[in-house]
Amino acid sequence: MPRRPVPGASVGAGALLKLLRDGVPRTRSELSALTGLARSTVTGRVDALLAAGLIAPTGETASTGGRPPATFAFNPAARIVLGADLGATHARLAVTDLAGRVLAVSNADLDIVSGPETVLDWVVDNGRKLLDEVDRPASDLLGVGIGLPGPVEHSTGRAVNPPIMPGWDGFDVPSYVRERIPVPVMVDNDVNIMALGEHFTAWPEYEHLLFIKAATGIGCGIIASGQVYRGAQGAAGDMGHIRVAGADVHCRCGNTGCLEAVASGAAIAAKLNGQGIPAGGSLDVVELARSGSVPALRLVRQAGRDIGEVLAGAVNFFNPSIIVIGGSLALAGDHLIAGVREVIYQRSLPLATRHLRIAAARTGESSGAIGAGVMVIEHALEPARLDASTELNTNG
Ligand SMILES: [Zn+2]
Repeated sequence: MPRRPVPGASVGAGALLKLLRDGVPRTRSELSALTGLARSTVTGRVDALLAAGLIAPTGETASTGGRPPATFAFNPAARIVLGADLGATHARLAVTDLAGRVLAVSNADLDIVSGPETVLDWVVDNGRKLLDEVDRPASDLLGVGIGLPGPVEHSTGRAVNPPIMPGWDGFDVPSYVRERIPVPVMVDNDVNIMALGEHFTAWPEYEHLLFIKAATGIGCGIIASGQVYRGAQGAAGDMGHIRVAGADVHCRCGNTGCLEAVASGAAIAAKLNGQGIPAGGSLDVVELARSGSVPALRLVRQAGRDIGEVLAGAVNFFNPSIIVIGGSLALAGDHLIAGVREVIYQRSLPLATRHLRIAAARTGESSGAIGAGVMVIEHALEPARLDASTELNTNG
């Protein structure tokens, strides 16, 4: 993260908090030196952040003599967020602190096709239970973040023509939840929140990250300059329907040769069935690969190569610093990622791959729920928004 001093006038309490969110305790003098703000101004900003509970005194620094100066650090316990990761057949909730640390989780087998009211009532009821569990009042809740398994218009929080979510099209998710839990509610698609969760938790030092979810379908979440990149209509990263050269399989979207029709967990399962090896879906493929089934391993490796072929173009185009491979298919072991690496290093331009890292996801099954919460945290603690809020009334 860049740490260059910003002209003092633009450094509000929000910007000061952003600086302190790395968790490092700092004195008023250090904050003054880092921001170019006068000591008196820093004192005012620090007092406002202390009053809001967003920072806390961290004791005293070692000193060579005299009274040691007080230090202050980010206080992630100040508030909490509720994140919901809603999949096709499974839902996961997490309450985290402002550092994305999980305080409590809840899981359920829940079909998204049972409709928005049923699914969101579950989120609300179990969200309240989790608050009780961590013994925090609803007034401590900064907001609710929700990930849906389909295209979402992020600005309004509505699903748009979701293929696997009948009854959700155009449904006003934020209003429905806000009527029951009166806090800000934000919605995005499942791949974007997984990318956020992975980035925030495991790879914060990488500014440009591609997160690949390889599961029943294939999608990509894009972090550009540290932020989720959604594109004009929120469709950025929909790589599942990019054509794989030479492939002619029909895809459910109406085209032929789409990556998803060739390399998804569902596509591999279909190929295994064709070879007389029964596989119901992505998880069966993973199980077969883990038990050493050679046909399954071969197909998973080839799926990695096909994903790599589409990604090779994205690498030249976007120049990411890291590609993180996640989703249930990634649980099949190293074969998927080996196939991805094989093709990307062979096909992408040397300048784009010189420092490129390709790694397996680290955050595990909670990445989506954590990321949904992170979406809310990043939004609420954004410096300009924080300065404009009533919580931080700082002048001068
Ligand atoms: Zn397609």
